Amino acid sequence: MYCDYHLHPHHSADGKMSLREMALSAIEKGLDEICPTAHFDIDFPNETLNFECDLIDYVEDVERYSARYADKIRIKTGLEVGMQAGREDVYARSRACMEGLRFDYLIGSIHWLGRENGEPREKGINPVWGYGATKQQVQQRYTRALLQCAQEFPEFDCLGHITYYCRQNPGTDVQMRYTDAADEFDMLFRHLIQNGKGFEINASSLAKMGFCMPDLDIVSRYRELGGEIVTIGSDAHWAKDVGSGFTGACEMLKASGMRYFCTYEDHKPTFHPLP
Ligand SMILES: [Zn+2]
Ligand SMILES: [Zn+2]
Repeated sequence: MYCDYHLHPHHSADGKMSLREMALSAIEKGLDEICPTAHFDIDFPNETLNFECDLIDYVEDVERYSARYADKIRIKTGLEVGMQAGREDVYARSRACMEGLRFDYLIGSIHWLGRENGEPREKGINPVWGYGATKQQVQQRYTRALLQCAQEFPEFDCLGHITYYCRQNPGTDVQMRYTDAADEFDMLFRHLIQNGKGFEINASSLAKMGFCMPDLDIVSRYRELGGEIVTIGSDAHWAKDVGSGFTGACEMLKASGMRYFCTYEDHKPTFHPLP
């Protein structure tokens, strides 16, 4: 079983492949299943890119290609929903746009933490690193926000890239570790486990930085607490990257003590033994 559960077609403002190019790349590489997950980020503060894609257009396109390539690959319907802690208006608008549409799988992601302590807008859209914050402070803040969002927007299936801010870490040791936010990770994992939710292993950082988001120490703790639900995704924006990092993510998961990864249908996980 070879799959990819985090993919950005050009319905995402930053996607660089059509759904057709995505499907053909996956078929050529021998994937059994893909789940396109376009961005849907209400009120994401970016002046140049609009991350609120037309969901009716998107879902109809995914279903069309799913039918067209049904004899070659399974294509599920997914979405990467942007969450913002405390923003009931964002959740309400997301729910209204998703209403009546069928999704197999929703990634709940935070790409924007909002501003704290008067952080000005002009310092950049994600100013968390710009004020001398340590990576412990950043990961603790991010993990607390993930827990709050998980409680406020329980429609998601798995959380996206739970160590996201290693990507913009200006330091030399960019990796986020369990010990950077131990209490926060434990609280988050207990919530996920109790509510039948999971998180993804985002493999986009593997080739560039040499580790997954999250990596071995964090996943080992999740397993220790009884966590079983994880998905694997490349977060590819280009067709050439579809399916990348899958083998590395599986190796890391096995080393952590995990035995399965999941695919989804109608928000229900199916467990597959790690290859
Ligand atoms: Zn994301
Ligand atoms: Zn993504």
